[in-house]
Amino acid sequence: MGYRVYVELKKENREFGMYPLCITSMDKEIEAEGSLIHNDLMQLDEIAGVNKFETVDTLALGSLNSGEPIEIFEPERNLIISKTNKKEVMTGQMYKDKDTLKAVMEQYTIVERFQFRVDRSNAIRIEKSPKNEFMYMYISLYAFIKGFDYYRPIVIVDGNHLKSTYTGTFVSASTLDGAGHILPLAYSVVDSENDAAWLWFFEQFKMTYGERENMCIVLDRNESIIKYLSRVYPTVPHFACIWHLWNNVYKKFKESHVRLSEVYFSMAKAYIQDEFDSLIEKVEKVDIRIKDYLELVGYEKWARLYAPVNRGWTMTSNIAESINSALVSARELPIYDFLEEVRKMFGRWNWNDRKEASHTYTTLGRKYQEILKLNEALSTRMTVVPSTERLHMVNDEGRNYTVCLLDKTCSCGRFQVDELPCPHAWGVLKSKFLMPEDYCSDYYKPKSIIITYEVPVYPLPDRREWNIPAHISEEVILPPK
Ligand SMILES: [Zn+2]
Repeated sequence: MGYRVYVELKKENREFGMYPLCITSMDKEIEAEGSLIHNDLMQLDEIAGVNKFETVDTLALGSLNSGEPIEIFEPERNLIISKTNKKEVMTGQMYKDKDTLKAVMEQYTIVERFQFRVDRSNAIRIEKSPKNEFMYMYISLYAFIKGFDYYRPIVIVDGNHLKSTYTGTFVSASTLDGAGHILPLAYSVVDSENDAAWLWFFEQFKMTYGERENMCIVLDRNESIIKYLSRVYPTVPHFACIWHLWNNVYKKFKESHVRLSEVYFSMAKAYIQDEFDSLIEKVEKVDIRIKDYLELVGYEKWARLYAPVNRGWTMTSNIAESINSALVSARELPIYDFLEEVRKMFGRWNWNDRKEASHTYTTLGRKYQEILKLNEALSTRMTVVPSTERLHMVNDEGRNYTVCLLDKTCSCGRFQVDELPCPHAWGVLKSKFLMPEDYCSDYYKPKSIIITYEVPVYPLPDRREWNIPAHISEEVILPPK
């Protein structure tokens, strides 16, 4: 792996975050015909510490994020720099490893008195047709990208039609922060929900966010999405939105739909096998066709109990619907104005959620603190019998549960899935005078939420103040057909 530098000098001394130096690393594979496959793109955050010198000029970003095609890697032309005595850091240079690049940059900082800031930057990309017509646009603001490691990687993806003259589809990817608020990750305008558009969107998303352990994606049941998601993220499980899936059941089996609604949703959310089995038995008795249909879809796609990774409370794509409904009137605007409305709205959300997190003094963020409190209230009626230091039997209205504090599990299934003490675990904690904090996921804690929102959505300067590089201002983008 090597590190490639993309640098552009700016005459003005701009606000720091606006023109970060961007360094990308790429795993390179050369195909037979010589084109490049980039299967990993990440930033070199570790060098962030070198920005200790006075700013004379600022280095601007000119990276893969500009939407330009990635150039073909030619080993002869792209010499790989392995010595640290290199005097200049220039666009297109390829460095052997992080240490070499860091050493050269530190020297360069002193010599040229430039200030460096190495960070993930905004990812904004546009795709045009061969006739220069607009096809797709993808935006991930740095404010969204920065906190990616601090929230549970459950991504909800959804598409929704625009209503301006040129129509198109608004695609969003979002998640929940540790307080239960919507956290946008990426948004995009594509010509329509077609195969090529979905493939492009997921490629951009992967380039921006990569892949995390225990990541999963929640979708409605659009076949096109699933097909291309699986191509870009072959090992990341995807789940159905249980609400969309139940709507499909309604279209097929109207008569039994109402009778089984409650059973279906309980089944999807069941934490233990006993509960699931007795519910699916009910479905079978009422309408075996529905049971067969749900089996054909795959239990792992909609039932929490069968999910190969923890999908937590994210059983629906409701949060994407919330984004869409907040943009109902904006959807009628021309694309640029629409995108600006989206950016402003996400900026407001970012500020509000940041503010709330910095004023949170409870153990967990708001939504999860409420669940924790409720569980505590429910625990008062229980009796706890210790078995070992860590293992306890808890009696809840005649039913026994086993709680293991060491593994953070309870036989009710909730402690391990919810990742905060269930009422039974709460009972044990209280009997031992222990605090719940050590038994909750870090994702819900205020310190994680604060890091999630460390970077604000910066205001966009007035159009007249934009300093647009020539290769961008000269770019022609015609309206779509
Ligand atoms: Zn329990």
